[in-house]
Amino acid sequence: MGAREGQPLDTRTLNEQLDDTLKRVFGHQTFRPGQRAAITALERGRDVQVLLPTGGGKSLCYQLPAIRHVEATGGVTLVVSPLIALMEDQVGALRARGVPAVALHSGLAHDERAAAMREVQERGGLLYVSPERVRVARFRRWLGALPVGAAAVDEAHCISEWGHDFRKDYLSLGVLKAELGVPLIALTATATARVMDEIRESLGLLSPLVVQGDFRRPNLALSVELLQGDLARADRVATLVRTVVDQKAGRAVVYAATRKRVKSLCAFLRKQGLPAGYYHAGRSDGARSNAQEAYQGGRRPVLVATTAFGMGVDHPDVRLVVHAEAPGTLETYYQQAGRAGRDGLPARCVLLYSTKDAGTHARIRGDSVHPGRVEGWGALQDYVYGTGCRQRALVRHFTGVDGPACGLCDACLDPAAVHASVTASRQALAERGRTREAKRRREEAINLSTAQDDLVVAFVDHLRRPVSKRMVALGLKGSQSRAARRKKLSENPQFGALKDLPERALILAVERLLTEDRLAPRGKKYPTVWIPNKRVRQAAGTSPSRPRGFRPSNPLEASLKRFRRAEARRRRWKAYQVFPNATLVAIANAQPRTLEELGVVRGMGPRRLARFGPRLLELVGAASTT
Ligand code: ADP
Ligand code: ZN
Repeated sequence: MGAREGQPLDTRTLNEQLDDTLKRVFGHQTFRPGQRAAITALERGRDVQVLLPTGGGKSLCYQLPAIRHVEATGGVTLVVSPLIALMEDQVGALRARGVPAVALHSGLAHDERAAAMREVQERGGLLYVSPERVRVARFRRWLGALPVGAAAVDEAHCISEWGHDFRKDYLSLGVLKAELGVPLIALTATATARVMDEIRESLGLLSPLVVQGDFRRPNLALSVELLQGDLARADRVATLVRTVVDQKAGRAVVYAATRKRVKSLCAFLRKQGLPAGYYHAGRSDGARSNAQEAYQGGRRPVLVATTAFGMGVDHPDVRLVVHAEAPGTLETYYQQAGRAGRDGLPARCVLLYSTKDAGTHARIRGDSVHPGRVEGWGALQDYVYGTGCRQRALVRHFTGVDGPACGLCDACLDPAAVHASVTASRQALAERGRTREAKRRREEAINLSTAQDDLVVAFVDHLRRPVSKRMVALGLKGSQSRAARRKKLSENPQFGALKDLPERALILAVERLLTEDRLAPRGKKYPTVWIPNKRVRQAAGTSPSRPRGFRPSNPLEASLKRFRRAEARRRRWKAYQVFPNATLVAIANAQPRTLEELGVVRGMGPRRLARFGPRLLELVGAASTT
């Protein structure tokens, strides 16, 4: 924002002015560590790079100077933010404080956008935009004509392909520095030294002031326990929770990955006489606020929750955060474990890990996912299977700096035990891998007899239309799966004819029969199999069978489909442009509770997430309460 004309840049005066705005607009008494340094540098025209833990108060670092800028000159501060929901939250909070702020994003109708642009032109203030918008040259020309004093890039780690949230559009934010020529402030809660460098280079920051927070939490005793299965973990959760309850001091939070598990864990704890409540986004508002009240008031100091629980309900006296299942990334873990011991008194964070968690999260992620997300899970696994100081591992992950060992975590207190359990778990894992591999080999070695080959061909011959190899195998096995039912495979006379053979052997047989020309490949988009030289009859007039028109198989799918139809009509899009059937089904299966979880559903992608995310979460939430 630079020096404002006629005002001396006396540090003391500036400090007083900053204190004044902090109290007057935000109602805070003192700055948090790093905030004043970041603000002062920015106001003096220097680029700033902020690395503060979640909840460290990053937004204030650009909001406060932006407010001073608009109050003094009516000027504008640009804020680049990755999610509409985040933008809307912040804009709402600022406007409630009387600060002029608007968000421009793809969710706005034409006239809303025009009104927002007019408001910025007339009143100045904070202008929140998505990174996509910055790429639009026309937008930048419009922006260039406004009195922009500074620009902020929130969640700046999205620039890095190696971070956990890569966003392609972030790569083009370098134009900001080049074209606007104003000081930039880039903020993130998670960045290794390498990512910090990438942010600096990509944005073109000029010898920025680096404000780096302290990620250590010296009062937290971290530990990981490798257990097999849910029952063992539920028992362990009960034991851990009991120690907190018996001491009658403070609260405990138990995290689980799914709503079902949250509910069953809570029931389990209650059966053991423990005062537990549960919370997830799918419960009715009433049930949710009851659970929260009982927790807050101390009547039920144990809360079992999904990741949806958190924002704004932090309590300083949480003595224990136990994860009954692994969270999806190390970032999430740090954030959730970090809710323990906010009062600075000793607290425990226990992560109960079972190898099956890897499968759970792979399913939640789907398989078409950018490498960063997988890396976030990889970091969590490294943490779980690490044998060095936990505290140091976390700090290193977030800052790239190796701190001292904490002396409190399991690895510090009993390195031999940690080492032994990690080794044992790795061995068990390798053993299971070998068993699976051996089974696969056995299945692949199975050779079908001539008579069995004939049954495979007969099955295909009785099909009305070509299907995939896997579908042939499912049909011959007599599968009752949804996919098999949808294709009406049970109507085939050979349905279940080879039910004793493994699916893998059947697929291989189909592949062999294809090379022997007893079956023929069909289908361009989806490879299918058919009988050589046999004509495929057009579907007989009556039943308009798939693929046209997706038929929902549960209420959530139906409501997602309604939503899609309405959106498509409103935007004059094709339904699949809103999202394809596969994504619709994936959302219904994953039942995501947070934008983060929704973002990793197959086919969602950042654009769809930004456009539809919050409303989709509402639909999911509504469906699961009924
Ligand atoms: P971050 O973006 O770093 O996760 P936020 O900017 O959302 O954090 O701030 C987290 C919380 O801290 C908010 O509730 C905010 O009001 C509060 N906060 C920020 N700065 C201060 C301060 N100086 N004093 C007290 N509370 C603050
Ligand atoms: Zn340690």
